[in-house]
Amino acid sequence: METTLCIIKPDAVKNGFEDKINEKIISSGLKIIKSKKTFLTEEIARDFYKEHASKPFFNELVEFIISGEVVVQVLEGDNAIKSYRSLMGATNPDEAEEGTLRKLFAESLSKNAVHGSDSIDNAKIEIDYFFQENEICSRTR
Ligand code: ADP
Ligand code: MG
Repeated sequence: METTLCIIKPDAVKNGFEDKINEKIISSGLKIIKSKKTFLTEEIARDFYKEHASKPFFNELVEFIISGEVVVQVLEGDNAIKSYRSLMGATNPDEAEEGTLRKLFAESLSKNAVHGSDSIDNAKIEIDYFFQENEICSRTR
């Protein structure tokens, strides 16, 4: 059994898509084993997305992810990482397949509704950010 980190991003929370997204996650066979609504601080966001620090969209990405509440969740299932990424669809919603979360709920390439871990190592690191005793981000609503 594998786990992965899901974030429902500020655009999707503001647009009221939290429940619809979670219905799709559950009907895809994944289990939501942990969930909390929180805010990312700028410091956390810059560290969380550090692999993109040199990209031209980095500041926009950080500004956006801290712009409102997010729902952070741990999903569990067989091949959870790959299976949730395929449910999310392509990063750019214009390229996402029909029925995927980004096709259904994303506003744009930067405001693309959901985050999902991309590897076993990153899933562990990302889950630790939010759901361990020594978690970095523990601020709740
Ligand atoms: P994914 O979220 O699908 O794993 P990446 O890790 O490549 O995608 O990028 C992280 C996030 O950065 C994306 O989800 C998206 O919000 C944003 N992003 C990626 N590429 C661009 C871009 N060219 N312009 C603006 N924002 C982008
Ligand atoms: Mg990524």
